[in-house]
Amino acid sequence: MSAGEAFVTLVTTDSYCQGAMVLARSLRRHGTTRHIVIMVTPNISEKSRLALENVFDEVFTVDLMDSKDQVHLSVLGRPELGVTYTKIHCWTLTQYSKCVFLDADTLVLCNVDELFHRDELSAAPDPGWPDCFNSGVFVFRPSLLTHSRLLDHALHHGSFDGGDQGLLNSFFSSWPVEDISKHLPFIYNLCASTIYSYLPAFQQFGHNAKIVHFAGAVKPWSSQTVDSNSYDMERFTSLWWKEFHHATPPAPE
Ligand code: UDP
Ligand code: MN
Repeated sequence: MSAGEAFVTLVTTDSYCQGAMVLARSLRRHGTTRHIVIMVTPNISEKSRLALENVFDEVFTVDLMDSKDQVHLSVLGRPELGVTYTKIHCWTLTQYSKCVFLDADTLVLCNVDELFHRDELSAAPDPGWPDCFNSGVFVFRPSLLTHSRLLDHALHHGSFDGGDQGLLNSFFSSWPVEDISKHLPFIYNLCASTIYSYLPAFQQFGHNAKIVHFAGAVKPWSSQTVDSNSYDMERFTSLWWKEFHHATPPAPE
């Protein structure tokens, strides 16, 4: 057991807790030897927090940070994502030497502990602009110095998309050109949008996915259904639900 390394996720609302519970169960199911920890903001309900404490090794309370950048967020079409600035508090988890951050809307399909062999900042390309990394899955080294430099960067430069991804990409700006070992294969962050943008590739390689990312406004736990015209995507959504029902036993009669 490598206590010095951890998978980290984040929730700022009770709704995203559903995703985080499923993610943590999926990491355990595939036998990770690392800690599984979560950052929560103080507004999370007591009930959600207790449920999280049952599944995660540690629950850390962090301050809510909001970019409040409605101009860039509306270009992105996701006004709700200013709070993802909270994500950068993961650099304060200095009790760990290395971590893998996973969005609460990701699902792990096999053991991915090999990610800890990578260094900061490793991430997979974003399908919308592959010279940017997608910030739903990334390897990082907690450091209070990096944390304060990130806060400073946010203050002085903001984020070009209003969320954490724009901020992190302009901070780690050498990612697209510097070191290919920091480019995670796309199968570590298979974004649902690829079924629209490159369906043949999805059909060819989708079954190799190690981490599925339900990026986009509609999540598996939303009341709207995930729009899937592909057998594989339906399979991923139903795997998410299978883990969900496993994570949430029915209430006793
Ligand atoms: N998040 C959260 N509360 C919110 C929005 C986002 O806790 O209201 C966290 C959560 O971990 C989520 C991550 O920030 O997975 C990034 O947001 P999201 O996954 O919705 O963005 P997308 O991947 O769809 O761009
Ligand atoms: Mn996401």
